[in-house]
Amino acid sequence: MDHAPLIDPFARRVSYLRVSVTDRCDFRCTYCMAEHMQFLPKKDLLSLEELDRLCSAFIGLGVEKLRITGGEPLVRRDILTFFRRISRHLETGALKELTLTTNGSQLARFAPDLAALGMRRINVSLDTLDADKFAAITRWGRLDQVLEGIAAAKAAGLRVKINTVALKGFNEDELFDLVAWCGAEGHDLTFIEVMPMGDMGEETRLDQYWPLSQVRARLAERFTLDETAETTGGPARYVRLRETGQRIGFITPLTHNFCESCNRVRVTCTGELFMCLGQEDVADLRAPLRASPDDAQLIATIRAAIARKPKGHDFDYSRQQVAGQMRRHMSHTGG
Ligand code: SAM
Ligand code: SF4
Repeated sequence: MDHAPLIDPFARRVSYLRVSVTDRCDFRCTYCMAEHMQFLPKKDLLSLEELDRLCSAFIGLGVEKLRITGGEPLVRRDILTFFRRISRHLETGALKELTLTTNGSQLARFAPDLAALGMRRINVSLDTLDADKFAAITRWGRLDQVLEGIAAAKAAGLRVKINTVALKGFNEDELFDLVAWCGAEGHDLTFIEVMPMGDMGEETRLDQYWPLSQVRARLAERFTLDETAETTGGPARYVRLRETGQRIGFITPLTHNFCESCNRVRVTCTGELFMCLGQEDVADLRAPLRASPDDAQLIATIRAAIARKPKGHDFDYSRQQVAGQMRRHMSHTGG
């Protein structure tokens, strides 16, 4: 079998794979989904076995970090079976990190098992600490359930990073509360700029756009921000708050500041491989998975796709237009 690492045309080694295991979710966050979503028929989704083959093929090609996302990954039936099986690659050392992005609603149930199979860190999305606002932004979520889940994760020994979408007029007033809460609980905190995706009308999206440069400026009113060179190879830039020692991340997908070092690709729950979050180019991995129990065709398809990984993307909010807007939902590509 051909095990040479995946190197793209810009000499970037692809070592990080994000896989969406479902398009479904128990929340309906306004910036992510419409309230009445049409979900995919089950036959279109990769089975847990297919997901295992796919992830294992990538690991065989040098992927060292695997992040499972969705939709809400923990609502996929039997997902723990998948996690247990894929964790064999942690045991061999081929996989260095197995991790998860979750809305936290099911964590109270899953955290101990995830920790036991070798997961060390998870990302939990949380945009507000106010129960009413939480219900409004997630439409179907309950804050106390998520806070319980986060507490369970911490108790199980998982490090938690909170991901907060920065939304003007929504959580602007909670910036310092969120920082203080994360500080007190020992969670890292990363702000994400809202992206031109989902079903929101263009006006709402532009209304809610709170540039992270402004979030930083607001933080700097109260804290000394020390720039750090720390990077996780991903899109986040970090600062340390000198007064508390906390690390705060900023993900600004719209400002082209991370494409150069992009080492990641994504696979949707139907097996579409996206080489770039912001481009439409896609390779179908489901067909080769289903065509043969042998992985040769799958690997050839992956290699051909990586050879087309673009240099970067072109989201742009300038001149109050949403250029480079994507048709996909984040719940489809797996944010
Ligand atoms: N359901 C899980 C969760 O919420 O963490 C995983 C999937 S969700 C699509 C992954 C991340 O994408 C979440 O942190 C969510 O806040 C973020 N997201 C969704 N829509 C977004 C948008 N339009 N702009 C920026 N981030 C978005
Ligand atoms: Fe579900 Fe996550 Fe999208 Fe919210 S952001 S609707 S929790 S997939």
